[in-house]
Amino acid sequence: MAVTEQGVLGEVLQELARLPGIGPKSAERIAHFLLAGDRSRAKALADVLQRAVERIHQCRECFNLTDQELCPICQDPKRDGSVLCVVETPRDVSAFERIGRYRGRYHVLGGRLAPLENVGPERLTLDALLQRVQRGGVREVILATSPTLEGDGTALYVANLLRPTGVAITRLARGLPTGGSLELANPQMLADALEGRRTFH
Ligand SMILES: [Zn+2]
Repeated sequence: MAVTEQGVLGEVLQELARLPGIGPKSAERIAHFLLAGDRSRAKALADVLQRAVERIHQCRECFNLTDQELCPICQDPKRDGSVLCVVETPRDVSAFERIGRYRGRYHVLGGRLAPLENVGPERLTLDALLQRVQRGGVREVILATSPTLEGDGTALYVANLLRPTGVAITRLARGLPTGGSLELANPQMLADALEGRRTFH
């Protein structure tokens, strides 16, 4: 079903239908909910999105999303800076934080190597990662890229990049559903994969 409304309402429907998991039907339901009668929800949503767009950016240290210079995890003195968990996206950080057991810090790559989609090493935050490790104080890097062909390829690339620094390199244990993404894994599976991590050769 295509969006047929014209004008501003049509634009609202079109934008909503572009969101992940929202088809034209849902877009219509949301648009009517937001615009019928009391518009306070619509105003609050527009307002918070505006502020988010203006203020949310990448953490200077780990590239997680934050509205401050350093994200709360990098700012937290109780987090162990000697362990870095390397993930693809900020959503993966959320997935690990949900299990509530990881006390180290993160490094968000900003994606994974995908030669077929022209995503090469220069598109990821690999230089910053190497610099973080070279600066010292990091004793273990956990490769937590997704259990996919591209995620594995990215893990191998990162491992080769970091190998000369002498840092310990580990990879999440297998057992996560292959081909899936970390944020879809349930917290227990993710906790087990973290616990069972092994040296990456
Ligand atoms: Zn950070």
